[in-house]
Parts: sequence; structure tokens; C-alpha cells
Amino acid sequence: MSSSPESAHRVTVARGDGIGPEIMDATLRVLEAAGAPIVPEFVEIGEAAYLAGDTSGIPEQAWATIRRNPVFLKAPITTPQGGGYKSLNVTIRKSLNLFANVRPSKSYAPYVASPHPGMDLVIVRENEEDLYAGIEHQQTREVVQVLKLITRPGTERIVRYAFEYARAYGRRKVTCMTKDNIMKHTDGLFHSVFREVAEEYDDIEADHQIIDIGTARLAAQPERFDVIVTLNLYGDILSDVASQIAGSVGLGGSANVGPDVAMFEAVHGSAPDVAGKGIANPSGLLTAAAQMLVHLGESESASRIQNAWLRTLEDGIHTADIYRAGLSATEVTTEHFTDALIERLGECPKELRPVAYRASRIKVDQRPRPAATKQLVGIDIFLDWDTDPRDPDRLGAVLQEAAGRVGWSLKMITNRGVKVFPGGLPETFCTDHWRCRFVPSGASATTFDAVLDLLASVHRSECEVIKTEHLYTFDGARGYSLGQGE
Ligand code: NAD
Repeated sequence: MSSSPESAHRVTVARGDGIGPEIMDATLRVLEAAGAPIVPEFVEIGEAAYLAGDTSGIPEQAWATIRRNPVFLKAPITTPQGGGYKSLNVTIRKSLNLFANVRPSKSYAPYVASPHPGMDLVIVRENEEDLYAGIEHQQTREVVQVLKLITRPGTERIVRYAFEYARAYGRRKVTCMTKDNIMKHTDGLFHSVFREVAEEYDDIEADHQIIDIGTARLAAQPERFDVIVTLNLYGDILSDVASQIAGSVGLGGSANVGPDVAMFEAVHGSAPDVAGKGIANPSGLLTAAAQMLVHLGESESASRIQNAWLRTLEDGIHTADIYRAGLSATEVTTEHFTDALIERLGECPKELRPVAYRASRIKVDQRPRPAATKQLVGIDIFLDWDTDPRDPDRLGAVLQEAAGRVGWSLKMITNRGVKVFPGGLPETFCTDHWRCRFVPSGASATTFDAVLDLLASVHRSECEVIKTEHLYTFDGARGYSLGQGE
């Protein structure tokens, strides 16, 4: 792609399955014509590798190439049905620490039909933490749990990425979405880190919305949003809502970005129903390739390609998936769409807003923070306790005695988070899973040895301990939630 390979960026390229090879060839042709300074290194991953017995779909030699190069341009891959295969995307994302998922959703009305003509937003989703850490346990016959893990460094990194992205792409506002009115510690950390980081970017407006009402507003008035940054699960749902309502799933690109490697791909899949017919729309992968060039600091080439692409759409030169009689001028094949785009390199759209990406690499650095003083001030002991009837007062009496023997006191018992002792309501539904909160009698801090004494005493009272959570303060601030009704 480049006349001077020494200064060019080496890019791992997977041609993928289904329509993958067709749209990748089109994309590489455009990159070449635009003089993008990249050198592709091809890897074979996906269906053929799966069927040859490689369950990850990525052979060893492909991994070596993917890890060596800073960026990876990937065409869609077919996930074979019914074989217990792992998702190749999840494998790549987790293995390479691709912490940021970036998905723009834009409408190109009136040239491409869309129910939300003014929509132009980007969702920056945290990609590794939250409920997706995959730490799940069944603890009693009736109760299973999953751990929602939110970290300060992980949050800081994704939030800073969202603001840096806004700067690089000339965007004005970053909206954070959480549910911190309910999850005050996990979502609360995400929101408070957002507030801290936002102060470093006084050129960009920052606001916060609760995820439920935020999602409703996004669905009704997407044009009100610019960049949205959010946790993994909310981002997963939100980006599908946004793609769907933009009316342009086939045109969208997406990026998965990590500290060493970033992967760029179309939002859509391998479209086996149209594969081999020469009619696939290469726009999603082209948009992803433009994102890749901005990531590499090659903003000028990215803008050139994106503007020529917008002009092609505007001129009504459309592949079958977006062709509408009366709206489009000509229905074209993948090859003719690509030729038309290449002819327009150097031109800008007349009506749609041209892009002008800034020449800045998106880099996020971590700021060291002073360590907080951590104190152990109590413990939650979880029990599997299944008597008939399930009487919290009876359990409370047994535990008060066990605690009193070793210098602790029982503060409360909750069932599914609701306080049932002392002073619970008879209407509250109880399962066989009980959280029992103990604090040391008298002192405000305690030791691990004292916790072991308490555990032994509870165990001797014939209560089945299934899990413990330590209660800490950090610089005096409570690091645990209160029970509902505490
Ligand atoms: P899909 O996105 O491949 O196709 C959905 C519909 O949109 C089809 O009718 C298809 O013809 C059409 N379509 C999609 N992209 C198009 C394009 N560029 N041009 C013209 N028409 C296009 O979704 P699917 O059918 O659910 O999935 C097919 C395969 O792709 C599955 O094996 C799935 O697992 C895989 N997939 C891969 C990725 C990825 O690699 N990132 C993402 C999604 C799905």
C-alpha cells in the first residue's frame, strides 16, 4: 500500500469468511488508491481453522502476527453452528487486553433511509470488566451469584479513552451512563472516576445519565447524544439499540482497542446469504479501516477515504442492501461501488458534513494515586441455612450467641439484600442464602485472627459457612453497602 515500506505501518489482515474476502479486497483497493501508508500481513483465521480442529479459530502462527503488529483489520468470521466453538472475537478481545469497544452509529439520511436523520453518536464501551469477568458460583440449592468487578484503573482508562476520542474526532460532549443510584459502589466508582477525569478536559462537555432513562432517551432522540461511555453490560445493550435505530448496521465499523494492539472490523457478520455474488456492501469494513488510520495517526488518509465514501453515497451509487428506488441513482456491485469511491478520492460530500480528523493518536496514560489507608472493620458471613420454617429470629439468636463468645456482635442478617434481622417483616420472602453482618464489640477496627475465631465459633454452632466478604474502610470511607432497611 505504501511506496516507502520502512515508514509504513504493518497491519495484520484477515480476509474472513462469507462476504469477508470480497469486502476486504475492496477495502484494500481503496487504501492503496488513497496512498494509505500501510503494509498488510495476511493471516488465515476463522471457519477453515475451526474445521481443521483449532477450536479458537486462530492458529499459532496467526497469533504471532496479530501480537507483533499494532493493528488488526479483520473481516467478518462465520461462527460454525452447534459445535461448542468459542467466539473468536471474545478470545481475541480477552487475550490481547482490548479494553475499549468503540462503535459509531450514524445516519446518512436522506441518502440512506433512516428513522433518525440527525443521529451521529459513538458508544465507548468498557470491554473486559463488569459482569463479563465470568466469575459465577452456585452457593446454595436455591441461589447462584455473579461477581460484578469494576476497577479504578480499568474505569480510568476507558473514561480517558472516551475523552481523548472526543478530542481526536472533533466531538463536543461525553455522556457517562451508570446505575449508581442502585449500585453505589461499583457504578458509583465508574461515575466518580468519570467526574474526576472530565475535569482534565475543559474543552469537552460532560454529563451523566442513569442508564435506564438514558437508554430510553437514546431510543427516542439519539440526535441528543455525542460520545457515550459506559460499563460493559450496558454498553453491549446500548450499542445494539443504537445500531438498530440508526438504520445503517451494514455501514458501521467498530474498534476494539488495547494498549498494544487494536482490532478494527465491520459491525455486521459474514452474510453467507449474499457471499460470492459480488453484491456485498464494503462500507462497514471501509469505515472500520478509516477508524484504523486515525488510530495510527494517519488522519489525512482517513479523512480522504471517508469523504470520498460520503460523496459516493450522496451521489446515489448504492449496493443492493441500501438501494431504494427514487432515493438511489444506480444499483452497483461491490466492485463498481469501490471503483466509484476511488474516482472520488480528493472530493468531499456536498450536503453531508465532511470529516476532518485531527492528526492525533489516542493515547491513554494512568495517573498514579496515593494509596488509601485500609482498615478491616467487620465481616459479612454468608450461610446456607435451610430449616423449616426459615425463621430469621431463630438464626439471629444462634449467631448472637456464637459471636458473643469471641468478642463480636451480630449487626444484621439480610436475605437477597433485604434486612430480616433484627426487626424484619414477616412478609419478606426468604431463600436458603443468608448474609450475616458482624462487627467487633467495642473497637472500630479488627484483625484477621479475630475473623478466624468468629468463623470457628459460627461453624461450631452448626451453621454452614459458604462465603465471606470483609468489610473495609478506605481513608475512613465505607467500602461496602448497607443492607436494604439497615
Ligand atoms: P449478518 O450481519 O452476517 O447478516 C444479516 C443480514 O444483513 C443478512 O441478510 C445479510 O445478507 C445482510 N448483510 C450484512 N452485511 C452485509 C453487507 N456488508 N452487504 C450486504 N448485506 C449485508 O448476520 P448473521 O446472518 O446473523 O450472521 C452470519 C454469520 O456471521 C454468523 O456465523 C455469525 O456468527 C457471524 N458474525 C460474525 C461477526 C464478526 O465476525 N464480527 C459479527 C456478527 C456475526
